[in-house]
Amino acid sequence: MIDFQGLLNNIHDDLKTREDKGVVASYIPELSKQDVNTLGLYMQHIDGRSFSAGDAFTPFSIQSISKVLALSKAIAFEDNKIWERVDVEPSGNPFNHLSLLELENGIPRNPLINAGALVIADILVTHLENPKEDFLQYVRNIANDQSIKYNFKVADSEERTGFNNFAAAYLLKSFNNLNNSVDDVLDFYFHQCAIEMSCEQLSKAFYLFANGGQCMQGNQHIPIQQAKRINAIMLTCGFYDEAGEFAFEVGLPGKSGVGGGIVALLPNNFILATWAPGLNPRGNSLIGMQALEQFTSQTNLSIF
Ligand code: GLN
Repeated sequence: MIDFQGLLNNIHDDLKTREDKGVVASYIPELSKQDVNTLGLYMQHIDGRSFSAGDAFTPFSIQSISKVLALSKAIAFEDNKIWERVDVEPSGNPFNHLSLLELENGIPRNPLINAGALVIADILVTHLENPKEDFLQYVRNIANDQSIKYNFKVADSEERTGFNNFAAAYLLKSFNNLNNSVDDVLDFYFHQCAIEMSCEQLSKAFYLFANGGQCMQGNQHIPIQQAKRINAIMLTCGFYDEAGEFAFEVGLPGKSGVGGGIVALLPNNFILATWAPGLNPRGNSLIGMQALEQFTSQTNLSIF
């Protein structure tokens, strides 16, 4: 039997003392206020056991991790129809790359780069009656935690500075791949990214992807085949131009965000969320990736 608690403690204590912790994101001004020395780890086992170390219960900005939750909700509405508007190929490009420029049809490479996430946001704005309220409620339900909130300062901060996302949205609109107005889609997108969750809450929300689409409360949110697909997309696209490195070092499907969070999972086994705000040059948490690498190397728990 693996001593998960001992392992998380060791990883935490080892990485806490590292000198190079990466650089906190500053292109969204509100995020630059984060402390680079923060480190949280939370592991949720599929059998109900859970383990934590460090700052595992403090909510932080989940940013691009929200793209997976948005994707699952869009799939719940439209099932395979969404693949007519967004592709499933890794981009090999940074998250904010306007990669649809490479294509003539305006179909983003995948739903986890920003352009693809904007198409998913458009689908949700179409289907949800009160998009921002209803999406937050979905996240609260799958995490079984009604305390999860938006950080409106972070959303405003990005609304004022997110010019790259404005460019991507207008480009999508010019290709007729946004049905709602650019402003409505971006307002929704900036808010979904500004949801704050702790490592604990993220691990519980992602339980459904490790459990064939069924959340901890036993509700089937997406079919088992779609959970498989979302995991495949996380593995191939979850870390942008570093997806290969993450698969190579860690060997799990996962998703990062520029708030410094990472959630990774082994289907039918566990979910592990980390938070360390310092990013590497590719925009992924430097210490979070190292924590996950240590975890899978020391337990031999990976999909490979
Ligand atoms: N809200 C951020 C953006 O769109 C999300 C990026 C990320 O977390 N990688 O730029």
